Amino acid sequence: MNRLIRAVIDAQALRHNLRTIRERARGARVMAVVKANAYGHGLVPTALALAEADAFGVARLEEGLALRAAGITQPIVLLEGVFAAEHLVEAARHGFDLVVHDPLQIELLEEISGPHRFVLWIKIDTGMNRLGFRPSDFPAALERIRRLQPPPFEIRLLTHLARADEPDSSMTREQVARFRATTQGLDYTTSIANSAGLFGAALLGCNWVRPGLALYGASPFADRSGTELGLHPAMSLETSVIAMRQVPKGETVGYGGAWRAARDSSIAIVAAGYGDGLARNLTSGTPVLVDGQRVPLTGRVSMDMIAVDVTSLADVHVGTPVVLWGNGLPVEEIARHAGTIPYELLCGVSQRVPLELR
Ligand SMILES: *Cc1c(COP(=O)(O)O)cnc(C)c1O
Repeated sequence: MNRLIRAVIDAQALRHNLRTIRERARGARVMAVVKANAYGHGLVPTALALAEADAFGVARLEEGLALRAAGITQPIVLLEGVFAAEHLVEAARHGFDLVVHDPLQIELLEEISGPHRFVLWIKIDTGMNRLGFRPSDFPAALERIRRLQPPPFEIRLLTHLARADEPDSSMTREQVARFRATTQGLDYTTSIANSAGLFGAALLGCNWVRPGLALYGASPFADRSGTELGLHPAMSLETSVIAMRQVPKGETVGYGGAWRAARDSSIAIVAAGYGDGLARNLTSGTPVLVDGQRVPLTGRVSMDMIAVDVTSLADVHVGTPVVLWGNGLPVEEIARHAGTIPYELLCGVSQRVPLELR
């Protein structure tokens, strides 16, 4: 027994999701976004499982270095580029592709000496107002980048969508139209869609898609689960019962006495808490799978433990397996209970939780 909390990563589910994305992308190449430790799934094992991806997207130089150290040879795109000359040198040494979103980054490129020729993704800000050149500033930026010495190996263009997870938002159409208008007449490879863009609006016609969340089997949409999109959850957060309690009617369970037994109750104490990345604001009633059955959380989430009402189940005992999210209990559903998004829960699985690739 002694099986405490672990995140079981299903390599087949990752590969299935990549195949599903590929079909959906109709010929576009797939940049698998593996930033933030592959959304909590483990950067290197995930990238190795996704060997069929055409490129990997990361947020930080260190993530790219870890992939190269693990022998990953595909293109690696630094989605925010680099901010210092020494990082540019590192990026050149390891053959990273760079997003360029700011004039300071062009300056760094102008000043670097050496023969390396980068693939440069110029980011256009079509309305997100976070990173990128505004359409009015884009032509000048492009001109500077074209004149770099040595010239870029290739120039590509991307933008990022602010509201693609809202199927009815007109903003996505406006962003796409702005991107098209800004890039009209230019013969460069382009990329618009993240997971929501890929499964939501009709964003085909671009050469690259950049899915993150969908690779991990979760849905970016409030009203559709990953399963409904044809995806399989790649992470199952599993643990087990470490104690059983018979709680008489009227007594409370846990900190703050936040849950009171309305009847004599069987309470299972489960090894999982906010120290593992569980959201502390989950409230009584949030579903938990005990021995494959949905039962309600009772009372507050502690650092290392939760309590679950298993009165309706026969034969729950120390060692009975528990799933916090995964197959049969989508992380999207738990995220709704926590008032957050699946991204935050997946990225938030803490370091003490071992990853087990299956
Ligand atoms: C994180 C990220 C993505 C992936 O987004 P998902 O919503 O997880 O699919 C795509 N593009 C960029 C630039 C990103 O930063």
